[in-house]
Amino acid sequence: MTNSYFSKQLSSITEKGNLRILPTVKECGYEIIKDGKHMLNLSSNDYLGLAGDTALKEEFLSHVSPGKFSFTSSSSRLLTGNSGEYDYLEKQLARLFDSEAALVFNSGYHANSGILPAVADHHSLILADKLVHASIVDGIGLSRARCIRFRHNNYEQLERLLSENHRNYEHIFIVTESIFSMDGDECDLNRLVELKKQYGNVFLYVDEAHAFGVRGERGLGCSEQYDHLHDIDFLVGTFGKALASIGAYLICSKEIKSYLVNTMRPLIFTTALPPVNLQWTSFVLNKMVYMNDKRIYLSHISRLLREKTDKLKSNSKSHIIPFITGTADSAVNASLYLQRHGFYLLPVRPPTVPEGTSRLRISLHAACTEEQIERLVINLNTCKI
Ligand SMILES: *Cc1c(COP(=O)(O)O)cnc(C)c1O
Repeated sequence: MTNSYFSKQLSSITEKGNLRILPTVKECGYEIIKDGKHMLNLSSNDYLGLAGDTALKEEFLSHVSPGKFSFTSSSSRLLTGNSGEYDYLEKQLARLFDSEAALVFNSGYHANSGILPAVADHHSLILADKLVHASIVDGIGLSRARCIRFRHNNYEQLERLLSENHRNYEHIFIVTESIFSMDGDECDLNRLVELKKQYGNVFLYVDEAHAFGVRGERGLGCSEQYDHLHDIDFLVGTFGKALASIGAYLICSKEIKSYLVNTMRPLIFTTALPPVNLQWTSFVLNKMVYMNDKRIYLSHISRLLREKTDKLKSNSKSHIIPFITGTADSAVNASLYLQRHGFYLLPVRPPTVPEGTSRLRISLHAACTEEQIERLVINLNTCKI
């Protein structure tokens, strides 16, 4: 009975061309090996190429020995899981961002699904960009606040919503990503900070998952690039992308940190990160701030790709460049075509992106050569959709 229910649902997903499976991959450096074929991996978020950097891992491992690290923290942070490595990493982050405090979470999903439910109550209004990440959408769903999603990057609408509503709520939270995950375009941080500053009860919440490591001279994100490190109340970023690790951070005031330690469920009710992960994050973070040459190179090849492909009429301003094919089937076909030509690009379909905008999400990394970009351009141009 139940099984037939699920198989019916699955058939309907399949009919729409949206059935997902978990692809098992074999990675080798910056390549994916599938059925004996080597392909350049352009589907990962290893933007600086650090996850594929064996020398970096060797250097880290030469400093650690089994007596000095642990694969588990065996407890939540409020009990015995709050190892000295947390303190070290949070101080390191606060120093880098020149902030009062930093708080580390197990993942970006934990951060985004937990912060808003903790800080926004039924006296609050959340104004979130239409295209924010699923983890933020889930956080909004779990919070008791009212929420209005404004059209993507439409600040006239946001401005109107703020002026209409600021008197009716104790707090308003403006929520956005800095570089958007699926389109690679940017929010306008200058404008958002300006809007927020017009009111005394508006907080700005920015998710820099795709900008951390990639933007700003020290890689701290768009907030560093546009000189707004001190203007964002909830500055979130993740370690699982450019930083080649796992976990996430929030840059905030001491008060907000302490409040979250007392109220945020995905921080309180979960086993803390293993100390060895925190050590690796700190180790890579120390090096990442000096990798501006990689950031400059990544921005160079991204521009190259954007300029050379007339097919990619996207709004991307970053290393994430969507190749929008339309239907789910066309994205699958384009993916297979590019895989045959040596590029591992996977289709992204609804519900991850809106219906009719299925795509390949090209995500470049600093270990791509210009020659590979040239070859990719040729293959995108010959790919029929
Ligand atoms: C990847 C991503 C997250 C989730 O981070 P994880 O550490 O992978 O859980 C959150 N926000 C955005 C914008 C992301 O792209």
